[in-house]
Amino acid sequence: MRLGLYVQVPFCQTKCTYCNFHTGVFSSELYVPYVDAVCREVAEHPRLLRESGIAEAPDAVVDTAYFGGGTPSLLDPSDLRRVVDAIRSGFDCKFEEVTLEADPETITSAKAIAWCEAGFDRISIGVQSFADLELKAAGRMHRREDVYNASRILRDSGFRNISFDLIAGLPHQTDESWDDSVGQLLALRPEHVSIYLMEIDEGSRLGLEVLQGGVRYSASALPSDDAMANFYERACARLAAAGYMHYEISNWALPGFESRHNLKYWRREPYFGLGAGAHSFNGTQRWANAHDPASYSATLSQGRFPVEQAETVTLAQALEEELFLGLRQLAGIDLAGIEAKYGASLRPRVEELRALGLLEWHGTQLRLAPDRLTISNEVFVSLLD
Ligand code: SF4
Repeated sequence: MRLGLYVQVPFCQTKCTYCNFHTGVFSSELYVPYVDAVCREVAEHPRLLRESGIAEAPDAVVDTAYFGGGTPSLLDPSDLRRVVDAIRSGFDCKFEEVTLEADPETITSAKAIAWCEAGFDRISIGVQSFADLELKAAGRMHRREDVYNASRILRDSGFRNISFDLIAGLPHQTDESWDDSVGQLLALRPEHVSIYLMEIDEGSRLGLEVLQGGVRYSASALPSDDAMANFYERACARLAAAGYMHYEISNWALPGFESRHNLKYWRREPYFGLGAGAHSFNGTQRWANAHDPASYSATLSQGRFPVEQAETVTLAQALEEELFLGLRQLAGIDLAGIEAKYGASLRPRVEELRALGLLEWHGTQLRLAPDRLTISNEVFVSLLD
């Protein structure tokens, strides 16, 4: 069996105004003890997993690893290397892709060279925008110039697989600033691009300002939903014209550079999450580690598995996941195969949604209609109704 490993680094320099993740601004003195705990989880993982009663440790080859967060690039490269080395010692590894998420302003030549030497071969940069006004309003630490510097440093250090993220729908974003951000991104020619539609969560400071009013986080300067959808569609056209393949609702790649690790999520392939708040899936069970870094570390130091929640995936849940995750991929799903696997009859509902222009057939594959990608969640809800 092939396995992906996700390593969660829940530390950030500041909290972005739109962020609702379980991450925080902690003293850097906590970084090394946290890395110690993650290395311990890696080293003891088979025993801890078995003793937890959730699942047996599988006979698996680890082919992808992804260090996400948070801001993993805040850690000292030697600490990141310790985790990679622990993974190499604790698991049977034949790495095909090892990704590190990095914020532009944290990238230096010395770090980039050390990441390369540690075994990272893919860097995913949280660019979000090339407009300083938007970056500042969102509470990001970097500015446009930092993105150019980061890109140059990574190329000079030998990285040949770089991903850039943009967010459509940031406060102060306009048609002109969005087109400029997409243009700047294309000029740097990353191998992979992610574009996320802004989601306003009530748990974020921006979300609270939307609900309660105020001027601090520029909630009144948020673009409309229609403007955001228009940003996305214009980016789709420009990325296609520049040779990028749109392979998942939020993701594009030059040929051969799709994220191997993230594809596992959408294909329901097994992955284990390490670190505070990390999620795991082995095909039949899903479980999540304790979110709080302190209780995560304390549980491990007592020799126990730091799991916070675990569930067996029912047949009905598995079917929903196949549809929801499968249809996020633009190649679509093999509906006949899924119906046969789950003994389900989905065709009448599918045909209703197809008649409404929400789904379409592409050969024998069923996929979201290309002009309905921005309302994918509504289509999924209708399909699962
Ligand atoms: S860098 Fe990412 S995880 Fe950290 S606060 Fe910003 S959005 Fe949240």
